[in-house]
Amino acid sequence: MRPRVIKLQLHLAPVTVDLGGTKTMAWRTIKPAFHYEKCTKCGLCATYCPEGVIFQKEDGFFHPDYEYCKGCGICAVECGKKFIEMIREI
Ligand code: SF4
Ligand code: SF4
Repeated sequence: MRPRVIKLQLHLAPVTVDLGGTKTMAWRTIKPAFHYEKCTKCGLCATYCPEGVIFQKEDGFFHPDYEYCKGCGICAVECGKKFIEMIREI
């Protein structure tokens, strides 16, 4: 009997998602604060953001789009250096 082979394709690059214009900042209670003085520009936060709202800018750093960030905190968990801190909105 031949062994069953399953091929998986991993997408490690940041993914952009069509959000349909739904802004999340109105109901979000916490948001990520990026400490750029410590950031290594590895891009993990952008890779794992489920909303695809973290983008690399000209300065090389990754910035969240706060209009669409839902405050889930995944970027803060995935940042290997723990340079992202979840803070209250107000
Ligand atoms: S808190 Fe969630 S939605 Fe907002 S930037 Fe981080 S991973 Fe993306
Ligand atoms: S995961 Fe952390 S260290 Fe890497 S780019 Fe994002 S904020 Fe910077």
